[in-house]
Amino acid sequence: MASRKTTKPTTTPCLPCKGTGEVSRPVRVGRQRRTVGQQTGMCLNCFGVGEIPADDSPPEGR
Ligand SMILES: [Zn+2]
Repeated sequence: MASRKTTKPTTTPCLPCKGTGEVSRPVRVGRQRRTVGQQTGMCLNCFGVGEIPADDSPPEGR
């Protein structure tokens, strides 16, 4: 198993969170729609990992 090379990256950095795994979204108050600040939440694109598997997301498809 030591002969296997893993130099080729199998993951690509997530764009929405820029590889941080977290995205900041504005927090709005429901009634007045006022932006009261920003909340940092888990990136739903990469599920907080910061990178997405390249094999799981082909550049062309659908
Ligand atoms: Zn992400």
